[in-house]
Amino acid sequence: MFKSIAVLILILILISTNSYANQCKVDQVKLQVLGSGGPEIDDGRSSSGYLIWYKNKARVLIDAGTGSSVEFDKSGAKFADLQGILLTHLHVDHSADLPGYIKGSYFTSRSADIGLYGPAANYLMPSTSDYLQRLLGDKGAFAYLNDYVNKRDNADYKIVATDVPLIKGQTYEYTLGENIKAKATFVHHGPVAAVAWRVEVAGCSIVFSGDMSNQFDVFSTFANKADILVASNAVPDNAIGAALNLHMTPSTIAQIAKRAQVKQLVLSHFMKRTLPIQKVTQGIIRQKYRGPIILATDGLIVNL
Ligand SMILES: [Zn+2]
Repeated sequence: MFKSIAVLILILILISTNSYANQCKVDQVKLQVLGSGGPEIDDGRSSSGYLIWYKNKARVLIDAGTGSSVEFDKSGAKFADLQGILLTHLHVDHSADLPGYIKGSYFTSRSADIGLYGPAANYLMPSTSDYLQRLLGDKGAFAYLNDYVNKRDNADYKIVATDVPLIKGQTYEYTLGENIKAKATFVHHGPVAAVAWRVEVAGCSIVFSGDMSNQFDVFSTFANKADILVASNAVPDNAIGAALNLHMTPSTIAQIAKRAQVKQLVLSHFMKRTLPIQKVTQGIIRQKYRGPIILATDGLIVNL
């Protein structure tokens, strides 16, 4: 009798220890918004950019939109601490500050190579590796920085680009550092090559929709049980035409957040057509999704 009780207790201890090991270490991981705006130049916000902090170091940069590098500076993040740069797609408002980060890194202590991950090419957009070459390669607009891409002689580190295949329903996984993994899946963003990212850090998962319309209907599975879902709120519910083909409406965001049972929803990538109606948007989402809805602002830190 005593023996079986002892075995039962031991099993319970093992189960609880194991589930603790898989639990999100909420005190170690934070999300910071660097840019909560879209492509407009008169919305008073920086374009897309996010940081994931782990143990008080900025470890992953997600998107490098216009102005995000200024917010990176203000955040106190150190470029030398980054273990990966993830791009959702190569629209200007998600990628144009990349050369600024690379040039700026010359004046930092970075010595380790860094991975740059983003979508493969389609008929409209270059691949992420090609984008890097066209900017910083031998024939690039900023060829004076080509040591960072093609050789190491005069550069302290190298940027290594990886193109995420655009295959519907597939998920690709990359290890960025100890306890940090990034997963990507192809999403529909009109004619633009785009991926969504799921970053898993110390048992916590933060998912970034990037810009997408959810026409592939893969996203609620991809975002399943995320601790934070960051969703682009670029269009209102009555969007039509090209805007609707590029972006998801608040109703779609609500449906995804509910189906995926995400713990917190962060709305970001606001535009002038969604900024003045944030309360309406929240109301639409609230009809389906019961968790916290956070409205992103530049510099905002979101705790898990
Ligand atoms: Zn876009």
